Amino acid sequence: MLKFYNTLTRKKQLFKPIKDRKVLMYSCGPTAYNYVHIGNLRAYIFVDILKRYLQYSGYSVKHVMNITDVDDKTIRDSRKAGKSLKEFTKFYEKEFVSDLRSMNIEMPDVMPRATDYIFEMVKIIKRLETKGLAYRSDGSIYFKISKSKNYGQLAGLEKRTLRENASGRLSIDDEYKKEDINDFVLWKEWRPEDGDVYWDTEIGRGRPGWHIECSAMSIKNLGETFDIHCGGEDLIFPHHTNEIAQSEGVTGKKFVNYWLHNAHLLVDGQKMSKSLGNFYTLKDVIKKGYNPLFLKIILIKTHYRHILDFNFNNFIEVKSIAEKLINFLFNLDLIENNGKNKVDIDKLIGNCEKEFRKAMDDDLNISEALAKIFNFINEVNKSIDSINFQQAGKIRKFILKIDGVLGFIEKIYDNYLIKLGNKIKDTGVGELLKKREEARGSGDYRESDILRDKIQSLGFLLEDTKSGSVLKLKE
Ligand code: AMP
Ligand code: ZN
Repeated sequence: MLKFYNTLTRKKQLFKPIKDRKVLMYSCGPTAYNYVHIGNLRAYIFVDILKRYLQYSGYSVKHVMNITDVDDKTIRDSRKAGKSLKEFTKFYEKEFVSDLRSMNIEMPDVMPRATDYIFEMVKIIKRLETKGLAYRSDGSIYFKISKSKNYGQLAGLEKRTLRENASGRLSIDDEYKKEDINDFVLWKEWRPEDGDVYWDTEIGRGRPGWHIECSAMSIKNLGETFDIHCGGEDLIFPHHTNEIAQSEGVTGKKFVNYWLHNAHLLVDGQKMSKSLGNFYTLKDVIKKGYNPLFLKIILIKTHYRHILDFNFNNFIEVKSIAEKLINFLFNLDLIENNGKNKVDIDKLIGNCEKEFRKAMDDDLNISEALAKIFNFINEVNKSIDSINFQQAGKIRKFILKIDGVLGFIEKIYDNYLIKLGNKIKDTGVGELLKKREEARGSGDYRESDILRDKIQSLGFLLEDTKSGSVLKLKE
């Protein structure tokens, strides 16, 4: 039975979607003003695993992930770059999609851009004003948290604590003239530094605040109440807290049933920052010569609610994991034996699948789930010589089914086969291999050994199996 840790209730809870087998899910996407970093990628990979596991469990999932293409940062940096907001954000949106592809992350079903939802945002803000939940000050509009029921519940904050935290700061000349320091902006009046970024609407000339963007895009695409909302834990307060306040304020209904948040990624024990020189994008990782899918394994391996302390040494361990998987699939592909079953493969697969499911059902306990898969691989390896062709097919099918959730095994194996094929072509090793077979056939073992050394010096491993010699990549 599938359980998730719900930030809202601070408990692991049985997952029950609103509609029987259909899950409605929203995750906060990137702000399109820069390349995403490996911490952001952790958040997107967590959502990907969650979505893929729901699908594996028989649910159909509608996943919406927004692109924040208007906010303070996008306006500031597009102006600095001398580009229009659209041109500027489009570039980073494209880069983001390309990063998702490199990491073999499934594309969301809908990827709304904030600037396409201004009308929906204005509608919500107007209703909030009518309901007395929003007020105007100097042309901007703010949400009045004192009028909101349960404000701060998601973050475990009571209104009293919020006030106390804010006391003493209210007298400071607040940029947006709020009545309460925790009130937040729904609509920002146009200011000269916004340049040509504004919308002329019924509520004035300006642009939306960040929080209202996600409320409008999620409600429009998923309805007033939906199943799952995700994001990194830094978004719990204020972003998600404010999303709840304005969404529930306008609809009078519960906004989201399950809130799932991933913990942060650190680099060498520290928060990533450009000034510390420990800030990495996917491009940086690739430039250093690492495979993006290996990064994916690093980001998946740690349970999503645990802090992940990233270090480039992580790639050493992950490389051996990848090699193990490649060798396993490669050896399965070599099986030609049509003999009788000697091992009960169905039972091994059945047990492993049960254990995998049990681990993942427990709030996506990925480390446990991966351990079960590697146990299975070890068990199969022990009796690989007595497995027949048909059983090898079943094992391959099972691993690929699991990979429907993990999303890296098949891709890594395919890349390996492509690399191997290219190397065979480029080095012309086929000719040497043929000569060696001939030498072996005629019993000239001295010549055969010389040829073996030549082949290996080209970067191959040569394994002699029952069905002939097989080439593998050395590294
Ligand atoms: P942002 O573009 O800053 O809104 O972040 C996009 C997503 O990445 C959000 O879900 C953030 O919570 C998440 N995020 C940001 N930094 C990290 C980090 N260091 N580790 C994990 N997730 C992060
Ligand atoms: Zn959001």
